[in-house]
Amino acid sequence: MSTYRKNKRNSIIMKTVLFALGLVLSVFIIKKIKYSDFMQSMNQNSPVSTPCASKLPSTNYSAELNSFLFQQDTTGTKEIGITETITTDENNLYYNINYPVTGMDAIDNIIQADVDNTLAAFKQSFADYVAPNADARPYLSMDYHSFLTGDSIASFVLYLQYDSPNYANPVKEVRTHNFFLTNGKEIALSDILIGDYIELFSFRTKSYVNANPNFYIHTGQEEYASGYSADINNFTKFALSNNGLTLHFDPFTIAPGELGCLSFTIPANEILPYFIYDPFKNVDVPVPDVPTTNNGPFTIDPDKPMVALTFDDGPNSQTTGKILDTLEKYNCHATFFVVGNLVPTAPHVLNRALELGCDIGSHSYNHARLSLLKKDNIKSQFSKSLQKIKKATGKKYTLVRTPYGEHTPKIMKSVKYPVILWSIDTEDWKSRNKKKILNKVIGKVKDGDIILMHDIYDTTADAVKIMVPKLLKEGFQLVTVREMFEAKGIKLKKGKAFFNAR
Ligand code: ZN
Repeated sequence: MSTYRKNKRNSIIMKTVLFALGLVLSVFIIKKIKYSDFMQSMNQNSPVSTPCASKLPSTNYSAELNSFLFQQDTTGTKEIGITETITTDENNLYYNINYPVTGMDAIDNIIQADVDNTLAAFKQSFADYVAPNADARPYLSMDYHSFLTGDSIASFVLYLQYDSPNYANPVKEVRTHNFFLTNGKEIALSDILIGDYIELFSFRTKSYVNANPNFYIHTGQEEYASGYSADINNFTKFALSNNGLTLHFDPFTIAPGELGCLSFTIPANEILPYFIYDPFKNVDVPVPDVPTTNNGPFTIDPDKPMVALTFDDGPNSQTTGKILDTLEKYNCHATFFVVGNLVPTAPHVLNRALELGCDIGSHSYNHARLSLLKKDNIKSQFSKSLQKIKKATGKKYTLVRTPYGEHTPKIMKSVKYPVILWSIDTEDWKSRNKKKILNKVIGKVKDGDIILMHDIYDTTADAVKIMVPKLLKEGFQLVTVREMFEAKGIKLKKGKAFFNAR
């Protein structure tokens, strides 16, 4: 299903430096790994319990920014990306790696390469090692935090920890990757900052160290001064967030190693004067780069995941037309549940939808609240509207969606057609916000879902422009309700309500 790994780089570069550090630390004392501790850390949705985790800046993002289309959880530390996990529990070693997949190849390829290289180097280092027992196995653990700044920069902080019976202590490391969301280009500090920012970093890091007596109580205040001197090489690990710019430091660089990875944040208002533009303001959500496939025949692979986009309350010449533009561009299908008395206002829209392979159903004659109607009136709501559709298109359609999704026993008895409801409600009518609509779908949608939208809002049409290529990129086929149930071998029965095709 996933196409993310297709582009995985095969060239494995040994990150021997990473492990040399561990070997330098190694002593003759054989230290037993606490296997239970590791397994526990694997089950947490946060980085391994290293000082790295506890030193993260607290986050306080606005609800608006938290609604970004990639946002995965509400803890504020995994704002972008869907977590992919690689884990194994082998005789001689074990590892657990959580890393983000965003759907933007330019970003995913770099993070994937980092993960692959790290894992390959880890395996290589212990290729000849035979563990005398399960408790004496080397392990590698990786997790991440991800942040969105404005709508233009994605930042990822990867936390590594590995240990072996040969090491005195687990080795910890932090890595950062920052990208422009507009083009996927990885960001160097000089791409976004100008002026004496290195002096600022040096000054602020020194203040940070000196404000924490634990950092130098045994070593003297100047012991790690070279680690925060005004040298660009001291500040290569950074991540942006809406809080500001966070500098990250590996163990032993600015403080004694037992303190682990350290970080602190220079607040947005303090760092902003050094930026070449204001990254904290919103720019538009980028449209995913997916090849358009409108020249081939439409085929459905029943073994691959699929979802049904459905639109209610139309037709509308303008907004339904915009949605059809997107569906045509990517050769995708959707189902339109139209309101009968609106059909004569835009019959050409319905005919265009049918030409593109879309399906049409009835959403009642005048969007009545059916539960307040008598049986006969409920029946006529659909018979009248299906007549209007037949008049406009020359065809008879047999799917309905009740207004407000009402499906009381009385309604279900009166409606002599399959009633198609939904499993994902985008609440597009409520938010009228492109990002909020996308956020209801992206990263949450599953095979067989029916997604509810309304083709009468510009914001919905705008969201569809991004939603369609995003879902295609995630490996979903976009099909009509009827096509989906047929592909899944589920019979659409009269007078029965369907919420998904699972
Ligand atoms: Zn409706």
